[in-house]
Amino acid sequence: MAYSYEAPVSQSLFDRASLVTPGGVNSPVRAFRAVGGTPRFMVSGNGPYLTDADGREYVDLVCSWGPMILGHSHPAVIEAVQSAVARGTSFGTPGEGEVTLAEEIVDRIDPVEQVRLVSSGTEATMSAIRLARGFTGRTKIVKFAGCYHGHVDALLAAAGSGVATFALPDTPGVTGAQAGDTIVLPYNDLAAVHEAFRAHPGEIACVITEASPGNMGVVPPLPGFNEGLKAACANNGALYISDEVMTGFRTSKAGWYGVDGVVPDLMTFGKVMGGGFPAAAFGGRQDVMAHLAPAGPVYQAGTLSGNPIATAAGLAQLRLLDDAAYEKVNAVSAEIQDLVIQALSKEGVAHRLQTASNMFSVFFTGSQVRNYEDAKKQESFRFTAFFHSMLAQGVYLPPSAFESWFVSTAHDDRAIERIAAALPAAARAAAEATEVSA
Ligand SMILES: *Cc1c(COP(=O)(O)O)cnc(C)c1O
Repeated sequence: MAYSYEAPVSQSLFDRASLVTPGGVNSPVRAFRAVGGTPRFMVSGNGPYLTDADGREYVDLVCSWGPMILGHSHPAVIEAVQSAVARGTSFGTPGEGEVTLAEEIVDRIDPVEQVRLVSSGTEATMSAIRLARGFTGRTKIVKFAGCYHGHVDALLAAAGSGVATFALPDTPGVTGAQAGDTIVLPYNDLAAVHEAFRAHPGEIACVITEASPGNMGVVPPLPGFNEGLKAACANNGALYISDEVMTGFRTSKAGWYGVDGVVPDLMTFGKVMGGGFPAAAFGGRQDVMAHLAPAGPVYQAGTLSGNPIATAAGLAQLRLLDDAAYEKVNAVSAEIQDLVIQALSKEGVAHRLQTASNMFSVFFTGSQVRNYEDAKKQESFRFTAFFHSMLAQGVYLPPSAFESWFVSTAHDDRAIERIAAALPAAARAAAEATEVSA
């Protein structure tokens, strides 16, 4: 596919990367396979902007897939990191930063009585599932199609995100035994959940769900869905695991729990809580967490867990995330949502903009998207045209139609004006796109 703009330095870096790294990237969606073209190699970030290796500046609507909720290079976060680095980078012992970060999480989120720090969202969900199995003595787990919980073997069945982008229902390397204990159900379908519990009495250890899914695009739970999951789990002796790796500390001070108030048994966190560093966590009921080593028999560990730099960055970021900060992010998000809807409507492009607090995404379809099947019916080729027009005009969107867009407190009037200026041409490109050219 030919584009009317070039990124020669990024392209040469990508060529080098492709020789030494599979597909040239360290996480698949970064390779632009869904949209084509040259992945942009970024060299710096400042507030709402990213600058690539060719020296072009972009308004960033990915925000590192959520973590950069204060924008890039926030002075307070940078300062906390610099001061932590000056004291050393890792000790392999407990440190006060871990305690303070755990206290901050427990303070913000009522259902979290105890928390264990890890280094990635994948580790958090993997460990939460092991703990749920160890606690209940059961083997089966329930997940929903289109929900992504990291690249945990047992959870890579009909997963969303990168896997959805590549339309691979499954991945080689996951054995039948690992996937065989996973029951994959359509999202927002409580009847299917009740049927699974009927079909597997006493066998289901947990139901894991994204608190409000953002990895098949934004598909919020229908009213009563999370409550229904919680009740079904409680009635059947299973644990309800709410994966808040994306929504945690993003959709409100207390994440999606702060929005819908449904109390999970276990929760997982990542992204925002690390302030751009690898810090993640899982936590919940004290009696369940007490089964974790060394307090209990379920093993879990990590050389860099609670790393002093990561905890300092996360803590600095969380401390700035007060009510005013969420009001600001929500207002920025609403403003951009309106602009997108106006531009697409003006060009007569069938679309559905779905939101979950300040998370949102656009589906190129006329009807409501309630699950992954619905999401896949959209005209992704229109997104491709839209994406490249925005990119050419200096706005960086997620390079896939199956991802949430993210904004920050740093998205100011100038950044929003640049988005507004780019949207009309992008909407026109979406309107004119045909499946063949995609
Ligand atoms: C990003 C994400 C994960 C995985 O986190 P990593 O840090 O990439 O391993 C898990 N669950 C959800 C809901 C996510 O959005």
